[in-house]
Amino acid sequence: MSHYQVLHFINGELCNSAAPRFADIYNPALGSVQGQVALGTSREVDAAVAAAAKAFPSWANTPALSRARVLLNYLQLLQQHVDDFAQMLTREHGKTLADAKGEVARGIEVVEFAIGIPQLLKGEFSEQIARGIDACSMRQPLGVVAGITPFNFPVMVPMWMFPIALACGNTFVLKPSERDPSASLLHAKLLKEAGLPDGVFNVVQGDKDVVEALLDHPEVQAISFVGSTPIAQAIYARGCANGKRVQALGGAKNHMVVMPDADLDMAVDALMGAAYGSAGERCMAISVAVAVGSAGDALVEAMAKRVTALKINDGLVPDAEMGPVITHAAKQRIEILIAEGVSEGAELVVDGRNYVVPGREEGFFTGGTLFDHVTPDMSIYKQEIFGPVLCVVRVPDMASAAALINAHEYGNGVAVFTRDGGTAREFVRQIQVGMVGVNVPLPVPMAFHSFGGWKRSLFGDHHIYGPEGVRFYTRVKAVMQRWPDSISKGAEFSFPQMK
Ligand code: NAD
Repeated sequence: MSHYQVLHFINGELCNSAAPRFADIYNPALGSVQGQVALGTSREVDAAVAAAAKAFPSWANTPALSRARVLLNYLQLLQQHVDDFAQMLTREHGKTLADAKGEVARGIEVVEFAIGIPQLLKGEFSEQIARGIDACSMRQPLGVVAGITPFNFPVMVPMWMFPIALACGNTFVLKPSERDPSASLLHAKLLKEAGLPDGVFNVVQGDKDVVEALLDHPEVQAISFVGSTPIAQAIYARGCANGKRVQALGGAKNHMVVMPDADLDMAVDALMGAAYGSAGERCMAISVAVAVGSAGDALVEAMAKRVTALKINDGLVPDAEMGPVITHAAKQRIEILIAEGVSEGAELVVDGRNYVVPGREEGFFTGGTLFDHVTPDMSIYKQEIFGPVLCVVRVPDMASAAALINAHEYGNGVAVFTRDGGTAREFVRQIQVGMVGVNVPLPVPMAFHSFGGWKRSLFGDHHIYGPEGVRFYTRVKAVMQRWPDSISKGAEFSFPQMK
């Protein structure tokens, strides 16, 4: 495949930066550079925000049903391009082709939800709140809004944001991850083909400089961010200080509790997919298995066999179960953390370090790693590793499992595997985590619910997509009205009371 350049998309046109600067795009399975992405500056942000601000009044005035019809055209185009998105994803991110198609499918579901926007935007009306007076509340778009997205879901995470923002009548500026930016331009192309007016959806490629320019731009009304916790927290603080509405989703350390009465085969299958799928680079990946009571020995024995047998390869190879990690630096960071786990006293049951795929010797591969007897003071327990590393922590009972999880700084996802309804019910009620699975390892909500973690996994008041997305991208206007021929009582100088 020949080298390619990924540029900005502003006001319906591809364009380069005024002062061109580029970063390399790697194919992680080959470990080699395959293209370059333009890195924007405040000049490209200014141009994109100006285009979005100019497009806003007309787009916001377009009836919600007409906006939905543009999204319906876009949905049809997306369905025709699933394979193109998936190929792009595997080549730039490294995940397997089957997993990439799953990512596209989950993104498409948000568009399907957003098409229902006329129903979702219906307001409230109270007749005769006083004699001759009616009241209503309605939701209106904010204006120009921006999305800043991570490398691990380059198709789906932007789609958690812009379909709903656009359906609500906002205009959008996307800053995708510079590691796998190509999908952003395919979205832009398809939205244009679907009939979206120029300026309504814009993409500025880049890094920190672009993010900071968006955070400081007075015309940007709201920021949606998904990425690591330190950046999420900084973005939340700076965006709020600048008077913007901000939702900033951060990192995670997701636990799966395995009770002694759980179906062991089901739990092992679930853990394999949830810990090692997408090389552990999912914000909902399970990275800690909490084995309760007697569950530990059988669980670790079964997992060890399965982890050793993982099929690791270039994601384009049809039977690959796990691909490479995103960069050489990520591979090094993960393998250094594994060494720390060993030196801190965890038992290394399967060591994935120094894994080589024949024919892909330069690829950023690291094998599946399994630790047993991990304790809460170890760095492999505390930190988000974001790689194919599963830590088993052993606890005596459910109360200790819940206390362990509730004490962790992150609270994105969690799961419990048990056959006991009472245990599961109590766990669901007590656990301090935003998304909970009962015998479901990755409880990622469907598009018509909303997604979000608790504690340091999310900064802000709103979860993302679903009904919470509609609330985030709109503000409420309350209206009271009466007409000259309704009853007039003359001027009133005291606060009105119901009579
Ligand atoms: P990241 O925080 O490094 O980058 C996210 C975005 O922020 C990118 O667009 C990047 O260009 C930008 N960025 C990076 N450094 C910045 C800085 N100093 N100032 C301003 N912007 C900056 O995250 P990543 O490595 O791309 O993605 C992995 C992380 O995202 C993991 O921590 C994962 O848990 C998290 N994540 C969370 C969710 C969720 O829903 N909670 C979903 C997906 C990923």
